[in-house]
Amino acid sequence: MSNLEPNPQEAICGGQTTAVAVAPTRDVLPGREVVIGTRGMVVNRTLPNRDRRMVGAWCFADHFGPEDVATGPGMRVPPHPHTGLQTVTWLIEGEVLHRDSLGNEQLIRPGQLNLMTAGAGISHSEESPQHRSPVLHGVQLWVALPEHDRHGEPGFEHHARLPSLTESGAAITVFVGELDGAASPARRYSPLVGAEIILAPGADTTLPLRPDFEYAALTLAGTVEVDGNSLEPGPLLYLGSERRDLAVRADGAGLALLLGGEPFDEQIVMWWNFIGRDHDEIVEVREAWMAGRGFGTVRGYDGDSLPAPPMPTSPLKPRGRQR
Ligand code: MN
Repeated sequence: MSNLEPNPQEAICGGQTTAVAVAPTRDVLPGREVVIGTRGMVVNRTLPNRDRRMVGAWCFADHFGPEDVATGPGMRVPPHPHTGLQTVTWLIEGEVLHRDSLGNEQLIRPGQLNLMTAGAGISHSEESPQHRSPVLHGVQLWVALPEHDRHGEPGFEHHARLPSLTESGAAITVFVGELDGAASPARRYSPLVGAEIILAPGADTTLPLRPDFEYAALTLAGTVEVDGNSLEPGPLLYLGSERRDLAVRADGAGLALLLGGEPFDEQIVMWWNFIGRDHDEIVEVREAWMAGRGFGTVRGYDGDSLPAPPMPTSPLKPRGRQR
């Protein structure tokens, strides 16, 4: 997916200069509605959040759907660039067709992972396939790459099989990192975890956590009780760090994501679909994309590439990882 806001603001995230919650906390962070794509599909964006820019290296979280894609073109995100990040696509319902400048063409379905590593630069398109299920529902998450890896080669992975755990009515799939002994094969560049938790009515479980990670939970369907907080689709529940376990339960059927990681100690600048380290670098990669340099070509998408929006006229001052 792409950040399709017409006037995206620069967001400065990460760095240890301000608060990583060094204790368990339960901060409910409201999401905001963002309209993406030409048909006005509305997504709920919880990262970056006004009060919490990152959770570990997770720096972007868009929840889309459930959306009727039976009529009309469905999702249509034209070719656009990325730098300095990984995109993680995870579906609950429906299908998305990915094409990238490395020549990959991959359909993704629920329970599978599409993981694209931008490194120094890649471009891709994402769209609903011609033959598709009537409903599309999923998330796209971004992971910031550390300095050591962000200038590297781009790459793409599709994982059709991922490790899962079943306990006390909860079916857990680990798509990135490791949880309770289940380790995803997905390539990662910092200590990180991402897991889907599907709860049957009455499910009641306790997940083992790492005290050195910070965590957050996001409900995608139903109502899920996380550490005593009743959480519906909408906000992100930031859980802080120094936790050894987490109670998750549900009265009815529910689905939530657990995201966590080692607090990201580098300060990053996010603008549109780019992650860099300062304003000038963002200006440079934006100009490269507009000049057709450095991001390859996506073949097979029926339509033009996305032009970059204009840069904000004045660069933002660094504000640390919390705000
Ligand atoms: Mn994208």
